[in-house]
Amino acid sequence: MRIGEVATTLGVPVHALHHWDALGVVVPDRTGAGHRTYTDEHLVRLRILLSCREVGMSLAEIRLVLHRDEAGRAAVLRQRLDHVREQRRRLDRAQAFLEHVVGCRHDLVSRCPDCAAYASA
Ligand SMILES: [Zn+2]
Repeated sequence: MRIGEVATTLGVPVHALHHWDALGVVVPDRTGAGHRTYTDEHLVRLRILLSCREVGMSLAEIRLVLHRDEAGRAAVLRQRLDHVREQRRRLDRAQAFLEHVVGCRHDLVSRCPDCAAYASA
C-alpha cells in the first residue's frame, strides 16, 4: 500500500508516517523507485502505534513495544505498565465518586462523608 492510501485508511497525515519512519518506529519497505510501501504487517504496527499514543505513550516507548530486540525494553515496558495500573486506580476512584455524586443528597460536599472521602485520599 502506498503512503497516501495508508494515511487515508488510518486518518493520519502523511508527514506523521514520514516522522515515524525517520524515528524507526514503523519503517516501511521501499519500492525500486524509492517510494515507501506498507504491508499488512506495517498497518497492524501503525494501529498499535495509534492505540498506544492514545493512552499517552511516547514514540520512544512505542518503538520499544514494536521492536522485541531493543535493549532496556522490559524495564521501560514494566514502568509503563505500573503507570497504566496507577491510572486505572485513579479512574476507578473517579468513577465511583461520580456515580455517588449523581445521587448525592448533601447540599455541601463537606457534609457528605463519601464526598469528603474522595477529597482526603
Ligand atoms: Zn456525597
